[in-house]
Amino acid sequence: MSVTPVTDLRPLREVIQRHGLSANKALGQNFLFDQQLLARIARVPGDLHEAEVLEVGPGPGGLTRALLSAGARVTAIERDRRCIPALEELGAAFPGRLRVIEGDALEIDARAMFDGRPHIASNLPYNVGTALFVGWLSADWEPWWQSLTLMFQREVADRIIAPTDGDAYGRLAVLAQWRSTARIAMPVHRSAFTPPPKIMSAVVHVVPSTAPEGVSMRTLERLTAAAFGQRRKMLRQSLKGVEGALAAAETVGIDPTRRAETVSVKEFVALARVLDEGRPA
Ligand code: SAM
Repeated sequence: MSVTPVTDLRPLREVIQRHGLSANKALGQNFLFDQQLLARIARVPGDLHEAEVLEVGPGPGGLTRALLSAGARVTAIERDRRCIPALEELGAAFPGRLRVIEGDALEIDARAMFDGRPHIASNLPYNVGTALFVGWLSADWEPWWQSLTLMFQREVADRIIAPTDGDAYGRLAVLAQWRSTARIAMPVHRSAFTPPPKIMSAVVHVVPSTAPEGVSMRTLERLTAAAFGQRRKMLRQSLKGVEGALAAAETVGIDPTRRAETVSVKEFVALARVLDEGRPA
């Protein structure tokens, strides 16, 4: 297969100028132009030669060109209509390898667009990114995707990978670490973006666990919402409102005077299992 190297493409800044793509704050647009950084992000999922990739929020296509140049077949969902002609122009340089879809990734059923399991890569506004991330982890298991390579604000990245017992440990960590292995692949300085946001970012790489313990997502969510909703309180107080939770804690040997942030992911899952088992099928 011959792949157009990024160096043969028009510089991104020129594409942006020609298509009048000034960054729109309301759409959370902070663009990346550094080709080397973009190539490094595109390497995070591993070898993408002939791999299917879903990219959400391609904007003017900086990461898109890096993914295409790595040999991927890319389906890109972008909400900002102004970016579509620039993306189509990029598609013309990679015939048959870029599918551009105009729309809101929160509304579109991306899963239905793939026969196999795509990698997902994205540099999204943070609120949209977190909502999609939670949705991708919460869906039926095995997931329909192979890996996630996602840009988050550093603080959110830290919450995803947080170990038990720290301030960053909470619902997001329990959900992510129950169903996947997540790591920070690289920190990204705010100055890498145009315009630069106020905060630092990080690329998080997530690989699904093949067989996370099969407890009900709803039960786990109810437990973590209650426990972390009053994270400074002892479990005997914070779990009061979840029927059967304190009895379940006793069954699995969790001291009710502990606080939520000391309860490991494994312990939350064990609690959820006991609650699930106590429930009529
Ligand atoms: N990926 C490009 C880059 O790295 O330079 C653009 C990143 S910019 C932070 C986020 C992009 O996501 C913007 O182009 C924005 O229009 C798009 N976007 C925002 N919300 C979206 C949504 N709900 N669905 C699809 N795209 C969205």
